[in-house]
Amino acid sequence: MIKGKCECGKVTFEIDGEIEDFSHCHCSQCRRMHGAAFGTFAGVKIENFKYTSDTDTVTAYESAPSNKRYFCNVCGSNILGHLISDPERYYVAMGVIDGNPEHPQEYHIWVGSKAPWYTIHDDAPQYAEEP
Ligand SMILES: [Zn+2]
Ligand SMILES: [Zn+2]
Repeated sequence: MIKGKCECGKVTFEIDGEIEDFSHCHCSQCRRMHGAAFGTFAGVKIENFKYTSDTDTVTAYESAPSNKRYFCNVCGSNILGHLISDPERYYVAMGVIDGNPEHPQEYHIWVGSKAPWYTIHDDAPQYAEEP
């Protein structure tokens, strides 16, 4: 069982299944929302994801008509994203997942929008937008 929580601990969740997709997103929205060089996402099946806390502090932000992002409105932690183009999956922010669960090969997306002050130092595949 994969577990995770937001920084303040009001939002907790479990994933009963595997991480099927593992990407670092360098788009400007992820960079702003994560306050970081990129956001890392674990793609999991929706039916395998379950909140184990109340969800009254989980707020949705529509960063684009095709993308809803859910975050804790107390501490600001990003929890997950849900793309209309990929309705079967949640893309859970890896930073709120505990430990180091098994995951597939990482890759970088939206590298064309990468922060100019950050250099990618690994050999993982890179895509200017999405693969
Ligand atoms: Zn929180
Ligand atoms: Zn992104």
